[in-house]
Amino acid sequence: MIISADLHLHSPYTKRLDTPISLQQFSLNAKLKGIQLLGTGDCLHPRWMQEIQQLTEVDSGTYQYEDTRFVLTAEIETKDHIHHLVLFPDATATTEFRERIKPYAPDISKHGRPKIELMSADAAEHAVEVGALIGPAHLFDTFSGAYTKYDSIQDCYQHMTPSIHFIELGLASNTYLADKINELHKFTFLSNSDTHNPHPIRLAREFTQFKVKKPTFNELAFAIKRQNGNKPVLNVGIPPEEGKYFDTACKKCHMRYSFYQASEQQWKCSCGGRIKQGVTDVIDKKSSYRPSQHPIHRPQYASFLPLHEIITRVYHEQNPFTNRVNEEWHKLINIFGNEINTLLSTPTEDLSKIGPAALAEAIHSFRNATVHFHPGGGGNYGSVTIPWEEPQLKIGLSSKKET
Ligand SMILES: [Zn+2]
Ligand SMILES: [Zn+2]
Repeated sequence: MIISADLHLHSPYTKRLDTPISLQQFSLNAKLKGIQLLGTGDCLHPRWMQEIQQLTEVDSGTYQYEDTRFVLTAEIETKDHIHHLVLFPDATATTEFRERIKPYAPDISKHGRPKIELMSADAAEHAVEVGALIGPAHLFDTFSGAYTKYDSIQDCYQHMTPSIHFIELGLASNTYLADKINELHKFTFLSNSDTHNPHPIRLAREFTQFKVKKPTFNELAFAIKRQNGNKPVLNVGIPPEEGKYFDTACKKCHMRYSFYQASEQQWKCSCGGRIKQGVTDVIDKKSSYRPSQHPIHRPQYASFLPLHEIITRVYHEQNPFTNRVNEEWHKLINIFGNEINTLLSTPTEDLSKIGPAALAEAIHSFRNATVHFHPGGGGNYGSVTIPWEEPQLKIGLSSKKET
């Protein structure tokens, strides 16, 4: 069977949100999105773990609430300021890992994403020893991605590198960009939302589809390792061009620079501002392939905006949270079953019977990659325009501004 999974999210304990967020809310919205498997996030936090354990354990380390399955996941920050995603095989392994890192993690009972005073390789060793899967979270993130600190995955995980099976692409990248880098060819790419908010515009804004025999941790682990016939079959994410630091640009006036120009000017813009290196240049410096080349096991990558964003454009609404957008979204979900069906597989003829022609056209242009990207840079968000919106000037999108 093919399942859609979002394996990186956060409980209210990561940002200390006042609004209560529950696993039940994540589960209900996952169903509307078309997601069968979620990571619990924050499973090292004792109160969140208590909530997880209220759910039914249907298989070792696999929990269920209504139609959604959960596996135990957490994000940790190591001493080198790098974020890692950890997938635990069961509650016993989670407890054991917690006990091992407790002496190095004073905030482990307070913060959903604990800070551990161990280097990446040492933290990975503990994770692997309890049977967990670990890999770099949002690898290309300019603040806490492993490449901000290390030249390579090998530098980051050292002797533990052979036990690393995945990297998380994160919002800053996609398969095309990541596969320019030779050392990444051997890893499975995960696309996850990293959301702190269960709203369907955030949850599963990025997700991975896997071929598995059933939706359980063990089957997922085989898929990530590409064993027993299990494997990832599709990555879906929002266009990385939207990111604030996609191109190299000045942080003050947002003037674009090539890497060469910026180095010539010692990263000082003529306006006096500082030039910030963009993700594309970080990747190009490491790249072995131009254009990108993909290893044989690599699945397709599809770029989509969340359906709320597309509806906002189609109906010229001010933002994706208006009643109109919400009503139109629910209408489509009721008819086509869920958001993933609506975006990925409903025939455009069926879409055009329900909504305005512009809706079917917009979804069609994402499927065929004919949307236009206007890359961000220097702290300014990029944007995406659908062909019928040209040549109107488009506002930046809101899907990344808050998580
Ligand atoms: Zn993170
Ligand atoms: Zn400037």
